[in-house]
Amino acid sequence: MIKHIKLITFDLDDTLWDNRPTIMKAEIDTRKWIEDKVGEVEWGDFNDFLNLREDLIKEDKTIEWDISKLRKEIFKKKLCHITPKNFRDEIVDKAFEIFIAKRHEIKLFDGVKESLYNLSKKYTLGVLTNGNADVYKFDIGKYFKFSISSLEARDSKPNRSHFDMALAQVNDVTFENMLHIGDHQINDMDAANNLGIDCLWFNNNHDKWEQNFKKPDEFSSWHDLTNIIKDKYER
Ligand SMILES: [Mg+2]
Repeated sequence: MIKHIKLITFDLDDTLWDNRPTIMKAEIDTRKWIEDKVGEVEWGDFNDFLNLREDLIKEDKTIEWDISKLRKEIFKKKLCHITPKNFRDEIVDKAFEIFIAKRHEIKLFDGVKESLYNLSKKYTLGVLTNGNADVYKFDIGKYFKFSISSLEARDSKPNRSHFDMALAQVNDVTFENMLHIGDHQINDMDAANNLGIDCLWFNNNHDKWEQNFKKPDEFSSWHDLTNIIKDKYER
């Protein structure tokens, strides 16, 4: 039986754009700005970051889903040698502003804009993201009725909070009427599948399906999305 889809939700990072180059550049530029102000900083490697994150979460649970706070707290730790404290905090606040501005310097995948425009004429569209990009800072924001980040959900996908909140945004919709589109096998596909939400997997890297449930339909080019949805749900 063909499901009657009314609401389509989208992940942001690595689904609408390639997030890696954006975050890398944001990170490098922000660090450079900080070092121009305070001199060389020992940034540590990724493992160091993970350990630091774990320590911070022990002190403050909200850091699990408030990734902006996480980033600021990490800057604070890395700059703990800077005095006076209020000068350090000023640097941290300004650095975060720079970071978050650069974090929005994204390049949409080809076809995203056209697809969203087409789909928005037939469906209610929403955003469900674990990240801190604000879709309303972009021109495509106009296609989305709502956007829920981990900060609003006070939780992260694959937990169900984002999906529950999505339903609350739209009248007369259940998970049966919902389609979720994202790149992440667990945070997007598994999460949606567990709730009985149909999903489409954006897989532009030829990744292997590694979950123990049936691979959802996938697509690698946004130019195909409108037709995939049409074939699947509008027959
Ligand atoms: Mg993603």
